[in-house]
Amino acid sequence: MAPYDSDSSGAEDNDFQETNVLLGYASEDAQGEEISRLGGQPTWLDPSKPPSAALARCKVCKDLMVVLLQLNAELPDRYPGHERRLYVFACRRKSCRRKEGSIRAIRGLRVSPDAVAAAKESQETKPKEVTVIPKASTLGLGEALFGAKPTSSSSSGGNPFASASTNPFAPKPTTTSTNPFAAPAPTPAAPEPKPTPVEVKEEKLPKSFAETLSLNLPPATPAPPPEPWPADSSLLPKSYPVRWIAEADYEQLDPEPAPISQKTQIMDIDSGEGSSSGGGKEDKEVFESSMDTVFQKFADRVGQNPEQVIRYEFAGQPLLYSKSDAVGKMLYAKDGEGEAKVKGGKGGMPRCGNCGGGRVFEVQMTPQAIQELEGEEEDLDGMDWGTVIVGVCERDCQERGVEGGEGGYLEEWAGVQWEELSVKR
Ligand SMILES: [Zn+2]
Ligand SMILES: [Zn+2]
Repeated sequence: MAPYDSDSSGAEDNDFQETNVLLGYASEDAQGEEISRLGGQPTWLDPSKPPSAALARCKVCKDLMVVLLQLNAELPDRYPGHERRLYVFACRRKSCRRKEGSIRAIRGLRVSPDAVAAAKESQETKPKEVTVIPKASTLGLGEALFGAKPTSSSSSGGNPFASASTNPFAPKPTTTSTNPFAAPAPTPAAPEPKPTPVEVKEEKLPKSFAETLSLNLPPATPAPPPEPWPADSSLLPKSYPVRWIAEADYEQLDPEPAPISQKTQIMDIDSGEGSSSGGGKEDKEVFESSMDTVFQKFADRVGQNPEQVIRYEFAGQPLLYSKSDAVGKMLYAKDGEGEAKVKGGKGGMPRCGNCGGGRVFEVQMTPQAIQELEGEEEDLDGMDWGTVIVGVCERDCQERGVEGGEGGYLEEWAGVQWEELSVKR
């Protein structure tokens, strides 16, 4: 994957570079937004058919968890007819913090019957092909998701997707966007959408194919019977206050190199000197220096737009908080030049437990989200994660047994990078 800045489309603006990362901002005023928000109680695709409560239970204490994030994640260009929502839940017990399974992610999906039929037809008439995700297509996603106003640089006629999703907050896609044949041209350089079924790809396959594919997978552990979602919300743990994610914009970065802290410079010099002596000590110093650089990059990047609560880029690269914890080790990779990079695409994340497909990055939460969620609380001993990274099935598969027009829910991957206990920086 190319680094963010190589995809800058802010050519008209010499002061800032625009990236493909969509930043979401929180506010108490909904401004018409009905789905995307921090906190509150979850709202399901079909309120009369909530998911199994088991999906929202803490894996440590087994209690029900509360919503950190609920996001309208519809991608009408990529997954026409797919009504998608992402949910991030967290356990409120302090004793569960820093433990695996105390923060979990759910993907809700309702596929229109038309899209199911179209995908089925496509599957019957087309050979299986490798899905290549055009990165440029993310340019239109922001408007679909958050209603981001296109910036002057990205809206100057070069974005073929801008007109495809006129109502970014509509809970259901318009008839235009449910047409699977209205898929966009792969690059902004080709603004003519081609009305051919070429864009209908493997990723939009109906569950019947997922079931077929699953025959090739190790037998899944039998799913426990669905557990009814509590009808009485007073039985749920106290939710965080609602902060609507009604505003979003593509990330703008100062093209000047971020100032490197003096500490990091010293460490770099140290590691350079160590290379003449060789041995394991040198590697350790290089590692420590690099670890600091990863955090420094996180802090600098987020600090340029400090109010951001989420960072969104489907199939993009998450911004790592650390490279030394379990999530960092899973996602961090080095290229030949020693440049720190996050593994792109399917890198590192566990595969989809439902269909076996690869997972891609979709959204991550920033520490500012904690400020928004806990702002009203007196308790100073609040949540202590640095970021929560959500990886999703790249096929956008459906829960087994769920028909077209019905809502299904699947657990996705939540990679939590906890705040470091001892600050080395
Ligand atoms: Zn718990
Ligand atoms: Zn899947």
